Amino acid sequence: MGPGLHTRVTTLVLGREARQRLRASQALLVVLVDVLLSFICGFGVWAGLIEAQMALAWSLFTLLGVLGFYVVIRSGWNLRLYPEDPALTMPQGVFSVFSTVMAYLICGPVRGASLLAMAITLVCGMFALKPGQVRRLTLFAVLLLGITMVGAHRQWPERFPIAEEVLHFMLISVVLPAIAVLAGQLSTMRHKLRQHRHDLEQALEHNRQLAIRDELTGLYNRRHLMALMQKEVQRTGRSGRPMSIALLDIDHFKRINDSCGHVQGDEVLKAFALAVGETLRDTDVLGRWGGEEFMVMLPETDAAGALCVLDRVHERMRALSFPCGGESRGVSFSAGIAACAPGEALHAAIERADAALYRAKESGRARSVVAELAANTRPVPSCTP
Ligand code: GH3
Ligand code: MG
Ligand code: MG
Repeated sequence: MGPGLHTRVTTLVLGREARQRLRASQALLVVLVDVLLSFICGFGVWAGLIEAQMALAWSLFTLLGVLGFYVVIRSGWNLRLYPEDPALTMPQGVFSVFSTVMAYLICGPVRGASLLAMAITLVCGMFALKPGQVRRLTLFAVLLLGITMVGAHRQWPERFPIAEEVLHFMLISVVLPAIAVLAGQLSTMRHKLRQHRHDLEQALEHNRQLAIRDELTGLYNRRHLMALMQKEVQRTGRSGRPMSIALLDIDHFKRINDSCGHVQGDEVLKAFALAVGETLRDTDVLGRWGGEEFMVMLPETDAAGALCVLDRVHERMRALSFPCGGESRGVSFSAGIAACAPGEALHAAIERADAALYRAKESGRARSVVAELAANTRPVPSCTP
């Protein structure tokens, strides 16, 4: 079933992209307000307060202007023409100041009411403009109105008496700067709020990382690894694709601690984690299982494939050496590999990997042993790359 009529109409009028939709809907709101103001103007004409031709000229100028802004936004030109302010807040503000000054000129004895529209323009700008922009717009509005009042008084002194013009000018000289100050405070609050949200997001991410990672090596910790493996086992159960796990244990790590010191032992653990991580494939997941034991999850990999991967890791370890008491020494590890049988519980596969690791240790260390399937005694595979 396609989208409903309401969705189709709103998509046609506002577009698809969320931010552009918001901009277009705001521009349409301004159009609506100006349509209503044109009706009010019409009432002024009917009441004999405003000249019909003037009212028509103002309505046409204003409505065409605000519709123009809507068209620019809806067509996406705003993104190309004015990328630094795609909502076109400043151009719309400047246009609105012009339109209000024009209204002031045509509204005759009720022109004071048009100053309200000037205040509304700045209040709208408060939510989108930076404090500096609101200050500039305010200054522009006060200056333009001031110049207009002087010019109008000179041209038509009886329609624009000096006392009324001074009163109107004093009014906007107090009200508009007051709004500009409020806009500045609002903008600072918005900025602080954004900063707080950013800090909070970072703190949350930091806490999340603390909860899932091992502090020493930066690898996933056992709890997170268990969760990842549990998910992968379920996926494997559904798809029927193979999956293996490998438990790695550094050989004679106690001796490294004893001869190089615990601090150096920590460094060996970090370097070991890094080297193993670099040797694994992108899809493999490495975590610290505890102490000097590590777990590797190998999705979509059978036992033979896992053995090949582990062979590469053994090779890498043979090429590595660590500083210890002024000299360097190598490190090896033993591994137990278990290919998860379809439907097998995760803990059962881990137990088999652990038993295979034990056998790797028993049979001389620095090697990998593949666990046999519990209910199936097929020959243990070998790595055939
Ligand atoms: P095997 O080859 O049989 O595994 O011998 P091993 O010495 O590696 O095994 P064992 O279990 O006897 O000793 C593990 C040592 O690892 C003991 C423990 O102090 C050390 N260890 C565990 N966690 C850390 C750690 O975070 N830092 C350091 N430096 N040592 C650790
Ligand atoms: Mg151990
Ligand atoms: Mg060990």
